[in-house]
Amino acid sequence: MEKKNIDWGNLGFGYIQTDYRFVSNFKDGKWDDGELSTDANIVLNECSCVLQYAQTVFEGLKAYTTEDGRTVVFRPDLNGERLEQSAARLKMPVYPKEKFLEAVQKVVKANEAFVPPYGSGASLYLRPYMFGSDPVIGVKPATEYQFRILTTPVGPYFKGGVKPLTVRICDYDRAAPHGTGNIKAGLNYAMSLFAIVDAHEKGFDENFYLDAATRTKIEETGGANIIFITKDGKLVTPKSDSILPSITRRSIVQVAREYLDMEAEEREIHVDELADFAECGLCGTAAVISPVGKIVDHGKEICLPAGMTDMGPVTKKLYDTLTGIQMGRIKGPEGWVVEVC
Ligand SMILES: *Cc1c(COP(=O)(O)O)cnc(C)c1O
Repeated sequence: MEKKNIDWGNLGFGYIQTDYRFVSNFKDGKWDDGELSTDANIVLNECSCVLQYAQTVFEGLKAYTTEDGRTVVFRPDLNGERLEQSAARLKMPVYPKEKFLEAVQKVVKANEAFVPPYGSGASLYLRPYMFGSDPVIGVKPATEYQFRILTTPVGPYFKGGVKPLTVRICDYDRAAPHGTGNIKAGLNYAMSLFAIVDAHEKGFDENFYLDAATRTKIEETGGANIIFITKDGKLVTPKSDSILPSITRRSIVQVAREYLDMEAEEREIHVDELADFAECGLCGTAAVISPVGKIVDHGKEICLPAGMTDMGPVTKKLYDTLTGIQMGRIKGPEGWVVEVC
């Protein structure tokens, strides 16, 4: 397979149009078979439900080349399941997981020339998404939907080395207590835009959102879950009904327990505990784990003892093991690394 002439090592995290996307339509109560399309544009009615009432959900996963030259995706079944849950919460028809997995295979194969080579640090990002397409003006779910997967090559997240982040405890809410915080939906991201621009203007890289009900517990950032390492080497991660169940976090918890013989606990984390932790990281598909060096709680600075200049030692072990599994250097649990071509 001849790869595209792209400077893989210098790619950023931006949109680059690829040759094919997968498109399927839901009409008269059923999904069609779907097909690959070369058209990157979508024509929508001016009153379509997605435009007026934000009825849209998405997923994110990566295809990449392993050490032995296979093109693979990481745990796509969990993305398929999560898309089903997100869709159900916004009263959208479910795009069945089995069809989802087939579509992932098809779209990656079709864009194989855009899957970066092993060792480049780059990958082909897949963005499955679904939206209500027919016109509604009275508030109700659409009756017609489109499911698509777009792909775009993205660069290594840490270009020029790891730089630990400075985050602030955020006064804005990411999600309502009994709202949609646990689904992957653009509406949550729209909610977070004001807060993230404000954070950047004030010199912070990210926001740690608190639970909206009590404003005492750590939840997640706008687009990543949070992990902490205690001073005695235990992994702790927030338990909450209003955070997105990150596939990276679930994988890290399992890696900690089964590969590194660590204790891992999912529990409520009080903002007053932050100073007790040794390491902190953000986790998500994009960067796997980004270390946090400093947390600022309304002027009070909490510097994590490990991780001010580099990834903390335990975080690094988790990162190396998980990325080792993803890249085929370490044997992963059954079904984690799925071959496409
Ligand atoms: C996508 C996302 C994450 C990360 O989830 P992964 O499955 O690990 O990529 C975390 N939080 C939010 C709000 C997200 O949308």
